[in-house]
Parts: sequence; structure tokens; C-alpha cells
Amino acid sequence: MAHTIEPAASGRAKCRGCGQPIAKGELRLGARLPNPFDEEKELTLWFHLRCGAYKRPAQFLEAASETTEELVDRTELEARARNGLEHRRLPRLSGAERAPTGRSTCRSCREPIPKGSWRVTIVYYDEEEGRFSPGGSIHTKCSKEYFGTSDILDRLEHFAPALGEPEREELRSELIA
Ligand SMILES: [Zn+2]
Ligand SMILES: [Zn+2]
Repeated sequence: MAHTIEPAASGRAKCRGCGQPIAKGELRLGARLPNPFDEEKELTLWFHLRCGAYKRPAQFLEAASETTEELVDRTELEARARNGLEHRRLPRLSGAERAPTGRSTCRSCREPIPKGSWRVTIVYYDEEEGRFSPGGSIHTKCSKEYFGTSDILDRLEHFAPALGEPEREELRSELIA
């Protein structure tokens, strides 16, 4: 079956992108995953539309081009998704946080990430499992090098919604430094 965009039939499904529930009636992306054990029983992974555009851009664009649903932020979401195809590592971005210890190493420059400093967290998508698994983190300042773009603030804010304005300001200034 093709990937789909449709209203959530219940409020029980959780988004694979951010882990939060998808409200009943809200439009969501259903990304199909072949079931290696049974061709008849394809799995569907559900995403908030924005999470889908960020984390499964090809599937989002395909579903968006097919759907008869009206997508309020269509132009913007499609641009975000295309951005994620252009910069292949961008869909790995899963949030921002202060390093709780000084023991992590940047995936980009391989230097330690000092305790208390901002880091961008990464997940890897496993095509077979249909799952995202933790992939470490990078210095905020290494974003350009790692992702190929430093235009990532919208993604950081989306996947780290608890950030306050002062924190966003700090991230912003580290990204343009
Ligand atoms: Zn989500
Ligand atoms: Zn680094």
C-alpha cells in the first residue's frame, strides 16, 4: 500500500518521530513498512505530519502529493521535507539538550562534549525494524559540518519543545557562530 495521510481514527497511536500521542482526528502520516514475514500484513508507522516531514521526508512527500486532505502548512512542510532529502543526515536530528556529563563524544569532530554545554541529539532509523535508535550527539557548533546546513533551529525547537526562550537564544547564537 502507498504511504498515506489521513485523520487519526483514535487518540491511541503514538508518533514514531517524537513519541507523543497523535490526537484523534488530527491528520497524520502513515509510512508503510513491508513485513518480511507476511506480505499481506504490511506495518504502518504513524507520525504527526510535521514529525513525518522531518523524519521520513520521502514518505511524507509521496503521501502529500497523493492525498486529497487539505494540508494547512503544505508549502512549508514540503520545503522542510525536501530539505531533509537534500541533506541526508538532517532526518537524524532528534533534539537538543545540555550534556548531563562530560563523557559523550561528538559524532562529527570526535572531541568530548563538555558537561553542561548544548548538544544536538541524533537517532538512526533502522529500515528493517522501522525504529529509531539513539545515535549519540554532536556539538551544536558542529551542526553545519555534520548536517551540511546550520538551518536547523526549527527542528531543534520542534523536537525539544520544552526549551524556553533563553535556551533558544543560546542555541541560535551557537548555530550562527
Ligand atoms: Zn510527532
Ligand atoms: Zn563536534
